[in-house]
Amino acid sequence: MNEEHADREFAEDLSGEKKLPAIEWLAEQMPGGFFIYRDDEEQEILYVNKPTCRIFGCETLEEFKKLTGYTFRGMVHPDDFLEIQNSIDKQIAEDSAHKMDYVEYRIIRKDGSIRWVDDYGHHANLPGFGDVYYVFIGDITDTRKVKEEQQRNKMLAQALEAAEQASLAKTSFLSNMSHEIRTPITAILGMNEMILRESVNPKILEYSENIRQAGVSLLGIISDILDFSKIEAGKMELTPVKYSLKKQIADIYNLIRFRAEAKALSLDFSIDPNIPDLLIGDELRIKQVVTNLMSNAVKYTEKGSICLKVSMLKKEEDVVELKITIEDTGIGIRKEEMDELLSPFERLDISRNRSIEGTGLGLAITAQLLSLMGSELEVESEYQVGSKFNFTLRQKIADETPIGEFDIYSIDLKKADGGKKRTFFVAPGARILVVDDTPMNLQVIAGLLKRTGVSIDTAESGEECIEKFGENDYHLVFLDYRMPGLDGIETLKELFKRFPDKIKNTPVISLTASAVSGDREKMLQAGFTDYMAKPVNIEEMEEKMARYLPEELTDLLESPLETPVAEILEEYAEIPEVLINSKLINPKDGIEYCGDLEEYIFAINIYKNSIEEKAKLLEKNFSEKDMAAFTLNSHSLKSTSMAIGSSNIFERARALEEAGKEENYDYIYKVLPGFLRDYRSLKEILDKAVYEFEKN
Ligand code: ADP
Repeated sequence: MNEEHADREFAEDLSGEKKLPAIEWLAEQMPGGFFIYRDDEEQEILYVNKPTCRIFGCETLEEFKKLTGYTFRGMVHPDDFLEIQNSIDKQIAEDSAHKMDYVEYRIIRKDGSIRWVDDYGHHANLPGFGDVYYVFIGDITDTRKVKEEQQRNKMLAQALEAAEQASLAKTSFLSNMSHEIRTPITAILGMNEMILRESVNPKILEYSENIRQAGVSLLGIISDILDFSKIEAGKMELTPVKYSLKKQIADIYNLIRFRAEAKALSLDFSIDPNIPDLLIGDELRIKQVVTNLMSNAVKYTEKGSICLKVSMLKKEEDVVELKITIEDTGIGIRKEEMDELLSPFERLDISRNRSIEGTGLGLAITAQLLSLMGSELEVESEYQVGSKFNFTLRQKIADETPIGEFDIYSIDLKKADGGKKRTFFVAPGARILVVDDTPMNLQVIAGLLKRTGVSIDTAESGEECIEKFGENDYHLVFLDYRMPGLDGIETLKELFKRFPDKIKNTPVISLTASAVSGDREKMLQAGFTDYMAKPVNIEEMEEKMARYLPEELTDLLESPLETPVAEILEEYAEIPEVLINSKLINPKDGIEYCGDLEEYIFAINIYKNSIEEKAKLLEKNFSEKDMAAFTLNSHSLKSTSMAIGSSNIFERARALEEAGKEENYDYIYKVLPGFLRDYRSLKEILDKAVYEFEKN
């Protein structure tokens, strides 16, 4: 059939009357596409309006016919046809009353571009033509794009929200888990610390030391996991402070040397003396990075050496750029495993390293911490030969004074620590309140602090804390953060509200087991005077107490007391005057050595009764030049003098013992008479002491 003719024929037949051109005109005026095709195998198109042709990029009907073969099938993208045809058939079958369908599909335009269209089709039986579809069609490419974009954004937003929720859940799970795990470990380590302090049985001390090591390593693993999750959650922030590089290096040396010594590895430190000593940076995180790398070097090296080198790459006005290299002669890393090195939880060469403890998190944390500091970890390694890890570090200079030459091996760690010494102290007049919901923790803290003589009240909840705080006056409060009921912060708030004057003058230190997200800042902001992480480290606790307790109540000591202060105080009251006034004896040392006053008096009794006999023996040995016997007798005199707290006689007897060994007659000749005079004078003093003691 002639196509032009067919069109006209259809148009004329469509109206059946002379109004045909009007309807056709209307169809042509429609802003959207409209066409009719036969519902048969051929799907021959009976009519298309101009807008339809334009959707296909055709200016004329001829072009459209050429492009589509003038069939419905020819209009649809071949990849979409089957699917939409099925869909149309299905919709029509289900919608017998209205015989409508809706589909979207792609078309290929004349210029080859692909567009999306929507298609509202109606099925009808057209007199004279039989079954046809008449279809409204529109180009929806742009709206579809917008819709898709919206959809994508919505999905992204949902995914983001879900991820944030998951991350929040993870962080909160981890912080809860850390609490749950740390609390019992704290108790275990605390109880164990007491065993370490109080037991004298070497076997038990050995077991106990093993518990300590395993506990500390478990805590290390938990901290690693927490650090990692904190970094992942974007919650890890750097806290720059002023620090001494020398002290930093000394600390690292101190942390690593015992492990290196245990494996007979040599430790070489090479530090450029021109680097300024006082810098500004996140001291703790830098230490963590270097210690991680150094520990790995020691862990994965069986023989040879570990070297830490710090050199200065650049020095600008107030910034220094350092290069830090950690090199070992260890097992090295296979080339093919290099890529996995920094992945979390990834451990290499498992068959060989199974026995080496680790989580595979150390390097992932190290690399991420460095990236937070704007640096990057570089690794060079040769399998079976050794590895070299290095990174650069830009630090602000706090003071230009160079670190200078220093011998790391003889560095006095106490001095490097800013002159800070371990504080041992007693404060029998002080009263503190310790609040923790785990009774075992309270027991541990009270046990560990027993020696200080501080009087300790305990409370197991925020509510009980408030009650006790109201009733009593405390010099210091340790307040656990996580407690059921009122937590630490809420309790502190309540204390501020109810006892504003009293709380102003009472330092309150927060105890917290959680290591996730800026705890320190949170606690200080909430009004705590200071912050301490659990498990309670007794040194830190004593240091804080020495800092915050009123000065007039604390007595700092050079070394710790072995016996709890309270007991000592009681006993000291009973020490005979004559001993306290004697220059030759320190009764406190003697009591400590013997255990208690009664034992001490017992020891004195034995000692004093053998003085004359021993003095005579020494004289005799010397005059007979029997140096073997002389050495032996001064040795025994030396030991017993220690037990009664006479370091004076102890030291002098030791010198005589040495002289005896060396057969140094001149020395003995010179000092023996003076020594024996003082030694004999002890008899009278000790007689009096025993008399005084027994009289009471
Ligand atoms: P791990 O806790 O297993 O030590 P790390 O993340 O610190 O975890 O290290 C990941 C892996 O990289 C280790 O298991 C080890 O196989 C390898 N590795 C790390 N440091 C060294 C090194 N100095 N020499 C050889 N292999 C190393």
